[in-house]
Amino acid sequence: MNKEAILKTILESDVLPTLSPVASKLITITANEDTTISDIAELVSKDISLSAKILKVVNSAFYSFPQSIVTIQQAASILGTNAVRSLVLSFSFLQPSRSNDGHFNYASFWQQSLTEAVAARRLMVAVDKNDAEEAFVTGLLQNLGVLILARAFPEQYRQVEEAMEKEGCNRCQSENDLIGVDHAFIGSEVIRSWGFPDALVLPLRHHADPKSYGGKDENIKRLCRVVYLSGLISRVYRSNSPEAIVASFHKQAKQLVGLEERVLTDFLENVHAEVNQTAEYFEFQINEQKSIAEILQIANAELSVLNLSYEEMNRALVEKTVKLELLTAELEKKNHQLELLANIDGLTQAYNHRYFQNFLDLEINRSKRYGRSLALLMVDIDHFKKLNDTFGHQVGDEMLRQFCDVCREELREYDLFARYGGEEFAVVLPETAIVEAEAVAEKLRLAITRHHFEHNEQSCRVTASFGVFAIMPAEEPHSKNDLISFADQALFQAKKKGRNKVVVYSSKKKWFGC
Ligand code: GH3
Ligand code: MG
Ligand code: MG
Repeated sequence: MNKEAILKTILESDVLPTLSPVASKLITITANEDTTISDIAELVSKDISLSAKILKVVNSAFYSFPQSIVTIQQAASILGTNAVRSLVLSFSFLQPSRSNDGHFNYASFWQQSLTEAVAARRLMVAVDKNDAEEAFVTGLLQNLGVLILARAFPEQYRQVEEAMEKEGCNRCQSENDLIGVDHAFIGSEVIRSWGFPDALVLPLRHHADPKSYGGKDENIKRLCRVVYLSGLISRVYRSNSPEAIVASFHKQAKQLVGLEERVLTDFLENVHAEVNQTAEYFEFQINEQKSIAEILQIANAELSVLNLSYEEMNRALVEKTVKLELLTAELEKKNHQLELLANIDGLTQAYNHRYFQNFLDLEINRSKRYGRSLALLMVDIDHFKKLNDTFGHQVGDEMLRQFCDVCREELREYDLFARYGGEEFAVVLPETAIVEAEAVAEKLRLAITRHHFEHNEQSCRVTASFGVFAIMPAEEPHSKNDLISFADQALFQAKKKGRNKVVVYSSKKKWFGC
């Protein structure tokens, strides 16, 4: 559908707001050059409630007349035809029938309309007082097309609002893209169909883009620009970056209507108060309008809260990461300690029986894979019971600890020294043949014999017996238990031979040893 077709559908539909009978009649009679102020006053006076409203506004600070005005006749002669017409149209238009309907936010729509009307009037007062009433009604009516489109195309209009909010799109552009026509065209054509004069129709048509007015009428040109600027002001209240809009308003207000900085500052400081007052004079409900300074402050505060929370989030994240890293390191340390605790004998700090068994399994497999020999020493302290009995268990414990230290001193890094149980120990010697294993056992035996075991100024000597066995796992089918058992049998022989001996296991039951 092209825009003319859309307009036709709209004009024939029931989405159009209805003008009050007085407003309709007023439009018609003001179009006639012969109409006098008395005719207008007579027409308006017929509507008692409307007259009362108009007199209330006329006597308010909105006009600040020194004398009180008691009749419409008087008001019409003082204010002039245009002002009375503007007032009648404003009252006719400012009648929100729906508060919130579907997706369209009517409350904010009416607030925006009133803000733009007041802003346009106030700006026009600064430019040319005579056109102030025209500016108010045009400012107010500039959104008529929005209201009509939102009623005629609720779903598409929701998308228009969304595109404006999310992507900062231009209203007319979004309307054209999503509906096929914009509110400036619809609004102006609708009021044209109501019989409004060009002086109102054209500013409504070109208010969103004053440059598009190609006519020569300076008043219309100026009105287009003022209404456009009023639209910019209401955007300050809806934008995510109000500061940028205020800066743009400053620049364009100077360029388009030549307003000085001083006037603009005064305008920006006071326009909100006038919106609130006007709503009161027109008995129109709005949320109290905030000052532009407050809007800018809120935006700044929100921005700094955003930045602050971002920084805070970042800091918290860093803290948490550091904490997590520390915890992970701590956990790793604890796991390592736990692993050690699970493998280490508490009294002697030698590897425990469980660890010895696992280690031996692995070493048998490794030696088998690489075709290497593997030796095992079983070691038992001689007459340890007697030592305990003589010096007490605590001394016995200390002797066990020192015994382990002495043995470990003599071994290679990759040999395993483990407590097999009680005062019996096992030494796994990887890649060691029987001859070297016997030599290692002998070295240990001598080191123990030579060591002075001392505790609380008591000193004693200890000896130990050694059973030695070595295998080539790749060649011999001995199991782990065989290995332990043969070394144990050799140890038994060492005890039998009088202790403090090293005995090598021989399958022929010929025992070798020193
Ligand atoms: P043998 O030369 O025949 O090995 O004689 P022994 O006395 O060393 O052997 P026996 O098996 O008769 O006694 C072992 C002793 O070792 C008895 C036990 O109380 C002692 N013993 C075992 N474990 C510990 C320990 O953790 N601390 C202390 N203090 N003594 C222990
Ligand atoms: Mg013993
Ligand atoms: Mg024993």
